[in-house]
Amino acid sequence: MTSTGRRVVYPGSFDPVTNGHLDMVCRACQIFDRVTVAVSENRAKNPLFSIDERLEMLNIVLAPVIKSGQVEVDTFDGLLVDYCRKKGAVAVARGLRALSDFEYEFQMALMNRHLAPELETVFMMSDEKYTYLSSTLLKDVVRLGGDVARFVPAAIATRIHRKLTSA
Ligand code: ADP
Repeated sequence: MTSTGRRVVYPGSFDPVTNGHLDMVCRACQIFDRVTVAVSENRAKNPLFSIDERLEMLNIVLAPVIKSGQVEVDTFDGLLVDYCRKKGAVAVARGLRALSDFEYEFQMALMNRHLAPELETVFMMSDEKYTYLSSTLLKDVVRLGGDVARFVPAAIATRIHRKLTSA
């Protein structure tokens, strides 16, 4: 990937990636020249998948846009603003679903602005068919035997099943 153009960092746990995340990446691609999907360890959330597994799944489902050079997948730890500076990003992309996302996102965006005034946070909304979709809900539904085919690529659904049945 070249370093030219306006880059956005889309950070998250991606435990695992869902169609909601993919929808967000597509939207980010319409606005920015380069999109870095940045996976954080997020031990506090007690992830189901290791960071390497999450990275691998993102690499699989985003393969066409990675190949085109517009999107890359990476991991980061430490302060998001430090990572964004290192990448030369002009903005952070975050998704807004329900009102419940708002308070935390608002706090984080303003803290990040305090830490890095030059970095903008851009909020986007996914297609309404995914607005109630989260990785957590998805894992719960799979755990209880529900069908999630509409909400994740087939390769990811298989991995969730495999992980939960081997756990
Ligand atoms: P985090 O732990 O940082 O919230 P997630 O993987 O849960 O990481 O989400 C990463 C980002 O993607 C967050 O900004 C979240 O709001 C957004 N997101 C996740 N699912 C959806 C969805 N279905 N629609 C819109 N945004 C979403």
